[in-house]
Amino acid sequence: MTESHYVGRFAPSPTGPLHQGSLVAAVASYLDARSVGGRWRLRIDDVDRSRSRAAAASDILRTLDAFGLEWDGAVQYQDSRRDHYQAALEQLEAMAHAYPCGCSRREIAAAADYGPAGMIYPGTCRDGLPRGKTARSWRFRTPAGTERFMDRRAGEQSIDPAEALGDFVIRRGDGLHAYHLAMVVDDAALGITDVVRGGDLLAATFPQIMLQKALALPRPRYLHLPVALDGHGRKLSKTNAAPPVVVQNAPRSLGDALTFLGHPPPAFLSGAPVADLLDWAVRQWRVSTIPAP
Ligand code: GLU
Repeated sequence: MTESHYVGRFAPSPTGPLHQGSLVAAVASYLDARSVGGRWRLRIDDVDRSRSRAAAASDILRTLDAFGLEWDGAVQYQDSRRDHYQAALEQLEAMAHAYPCGCSRREIAAAADYGPAGMIYPGTCRDGLPRGKTARSWRFRTPAGTERFMDRRAGEQSIDPAEALGDFVIRRGDGLHAYHLAMVVDDAALGITDVVRGGDLLAATFPQIMLQKALALPRPRYLHLPVALDGHGRKLSKTNAAPPVVVQNAPRSLGDALTFLGHPPPAFLSGAPVADLLDWAVRQWRVSTIPAP
C-alpha cells in the first residue's frame, strides 16, 4: 500500500453528542490519515435504529466542523445501507457461514457457557432449526482455530474465537443487522485501509476480521487507542454520561485530546485556533508516541 492510498474514517454512533473520548478517536483517525496525505471519511453508525437520534448525528457533524476536522466526500449513513447488509447476510448463508437461529434469550441463557465477552451461544440451531422453531435471528458460524491480527500500537492480538465468542448474532431478532456486519460491509464499500478507533473496540476486531474473511473482503490495518478515562478512572462514554465537548472551548478540548494522544501542543501554540493546532499535529503525528494503555 502506498501512502496516498490511505483511506481512514471516523464512525460515531449518533446516540448523543460528541464527548472527549470520541473526540480523541476523531482526532487520531484524522491525523493518522492527513499525516500521510490520505483521505478521511465520515460515517454515521446509525444501524441500530432503536438507539440512534437524528439530532445527535447533526450535532456531531457541527461539532467536527467547529474543530476543523474536515472530512472527504459525502457522509455515509448506515440507515440507508440495509440492503447491502442483507445481501452480505444472504451471501454468508449461501456459503454456510451463517445460519438462522430460533432460540429465545431465555433458552440461550439456560444452556449457555460464559466467555470473557459474556454468554456463548450453545449451538442449538447450528445444524439446522430444530423442529418447531422458526428463525428469529441469524448467527455467524464461528470457525475453530486461532484468530490473529496485528494492531499497530498494541502488537499481535489473538484469541480462540469459538471459545471466546461462539456463534455471534449478525441479524437480530428485531430484524436489525448487527454492528459487526454493517461495519465490515461499509468499511469495504468506502475502501477503508486504516481503522483508528478507541481501545474499547479492540475485541470487536475479531468478529469483524472473521466476517471480512468469510465475505472475501480486504482487511484494513488496525490501530486502537488508549481508552480515555474521566477523573474517577471510568471510561469516557455516553453510557457513563461523559459531558459533551463544548464548541466554544474547541482549542482547549483539542489540546487536551492531543496531550492524551502523547502530542502535547508546545507553549507557542497556547491560545492558537484549532486550525493551527491541527496543522502542527499533522506534522508531528507519530503512532509510537501514543502512550500505551
Ligand atoms: N460506531 C462505533 C462507536 O461509536 C465505532 C465504530 C468503529 O470505529 O469501528 O463506538
